[in-house]
Amino acid sequence: MDDTLTLTLSLLALLLGLAIGKAWERYKLRDGRWIDRRRIQESPHYILGLNFLVSNQIDLAIEELTKAAGLDAPALEIHLILGNLYRERGQVSKAIQMHQSLLQRPNLTAMEQAYVLLCLGLDFKRGGFVDRSFQAFSEVTRLDPGNQYALLNLEKLHEEQQQWQEAHAIRQRLADSASDGERPRDQSILAFLENELGLQSGREGLSDQAIHHFERALELDSRTIPASLNLGDVYMSQKNTRKAISIWEQILRTAPERSYLAFDRLEGAYASLGQTTRFAELCRQLIDANPQDWRARLSLGQHFVSREHSSQALNLFFESLIHNPHALAIHQAIWRSLATLDFNPSLVRRYIELTHDAVFYLDPHVCIRCRYRSTELLWQCPQCHEWNTFVEERIAPAEDATEDTDIKEAAV
Ligand SMILES: [Zn+2]
Repeated sequence: MDDTLTLTLSLLALLLGLAIGKAWERYKLRDGRWIDRRRIQESPHYILGLNFLVSNQIDLAIEELTKAAGLDAPALEIHLILGNLYRERGQVSKAIQMHQSLLQRPNLTAMEQAYVLLCLGLDFKRGGFVDRSFQAFSEVTRLDPGNQYALLNLEKLHEEQQQWQEAHAIRQRLADSASDGERPRDQSILAFLENELGLQSGREGLSDQAIHHFERALELDSRTIPASLNLGDVYMSQKNTRKAISIWEQILRTAPERSYLAFDRLEGAYASLGQTTRFAELCRQLIDANPQDWRARLSLGQHFVSREHSSQALNLFFESLIHNPHALAIHQAIWRSLATLDFNPSLVRRYIELTHDAVFYLDPHVCIRCRYRSTELLWQCPQCHEWNTFVEERIAPAEDATEDTDIKEAAV
């Protein structure tokens, strides 16, 4: 026998072995019958079930997938999905029962065990069993250290219990394994967690530690506005007004569209140093840099009101209104000024013209992740718990449509 033939024969044997192995995988002996495992995926129940799942018809999906599971009782994935669907439908105990019984199966691989535990963790979380969901997710990360979904859930559980240090450690773990593209998002979340740590230190009276955390937050992401505000507050409490001002003024450079959040603080700090014109200068600077800045106009107007320059103030409020006709704060400011000016008829007419096409609504901030609406700018969404996802939604004149487009794009 020559070498070529030997090789061919051994290759053939190998291929046969593989084919038999495949067949073995595919057919399982059950109750004295050979069952084709592939049949389950070709069964109309399975396909219908998935279709209902896609179109979010959970009850029908459960019905079809239960029938499909009947064709092949050992199929892990269908039982996992069914359990998840029960959870989604709010039948948490049924979901827990289903997933727990899967965990009892012998010969589960570590990966399969991790998947089942992940689902179980989500069941417990949904049912409000914090400790047990925590245990389940921790166990997942033990079996599968890089499991991002488990890590994310652990992070959120820590955040819900205000365990910022632990949440930070997990986010750091996620950041270490993330690709470069995800880096800015991780940095930004780490920065918000540092800010929470700073607040915690502040509550414990540890100013130096608080400063350290806020500074670290700003190093990670200079646009972490609460960290800037809080850092300045610590310096103010230490009577270091100049330092506080310089921290707050940095927001004008890093995130000018959010600098209004520091207006009250800055106005007070300038006044305490006797710098009477500086706040007006700052507002003018912002308006020059961004002619659509209605908040700087509103604040400058209110600044003038406090100095009894009512007509100057009213002009600024009118300009502000052109750029955001739906801000109730502007309308209130206008009515107050109009009252001070004895409802001068020509000014009232001007107001009526400006508001002619305005539609009022109260909740202009919207979460770009889950569309939760809020009257105030929130740093963490109460619905989806994501950080820094709120943008201001406004109906604006045609030439000022950029912000609305941003929201739509971000929501896609
Ligand atoms: Zn949200």
